[in-house]
Amino acid sequence: MEQTLLEEDPNAKVIDRVGWNGTNCTGAWSWSREPIGRTANEAPGLRDLITSVIINTEKKDFWGWKLNNNNGFATGILADNIDNRLLNAGTNVCETIGNNLVPKKVEIFVWRLRKKRLPVLIELDKRGIDLNSVRCSICDGDIEMVDHSLIFCNKSMDVWSKIFDWWGLNGIANASIMDLFGEGFGSNSSGISAKILQAVIWTSGYLI
Ligand SMILES: [Zn+2]
Repeated sequence: MEQTLLEEDPNAKVIDRVGWNGTNCTGAWSWSREPIGRTANEAPGLRDLITSVIINTEKKDFWGWKLNNNNGFATGILADNIDNRLLNAGTNVCETIGNNLVPKKVEIFVWRLRKKRLPVLIELDKRGIDLNSVRCSICDGDIEMVDHSLIFCNKSMDVWSKIFDWWGLNGIANASIMDLFGEGFGSNSSGISAKILQAVIWTSGYLI
């Protein structure tokens, strides 16, 4: 059965339907039929929403962008908002995540890493993506999971060995993802150097 449009005039403007009487708005609908089902429930809510709207008939309509004070759309501001929502989203795994020495993209990488949301083959496979193999695409020596790709794959291990030498650390062979990217890493060193070390580790992981 063909669904007829509820509004009789598809070209109707908001001002035609809100019944602007000079002081406030009232619904002045022109339905082609009585609203039923969900629409019937939503119509009173819509009417409540617009009763307090003051329409300036002198001005033309325009698109506004509420995230920015001067109404101008800016991709940078949108990106900042998404970053902030992502990084501040309450999670039970990693409540606080932040290191202001690294770019936002690195913080997001670590957040995704901790949430097991990096697109390594085993994770893609778990999500039902059809793959020929879930073995490491670099070395083929093991299943491509985060621990392998980021730490134990030969290429990755070469990088970590150099970084551990540089910082006088040991134990990379037995390190886990949460050893490297969890809160505790670097806590043996103190204050500022722990933060710098964390920045080095996070950035290296991001680049790997
Ligand atoms: Zn590998």
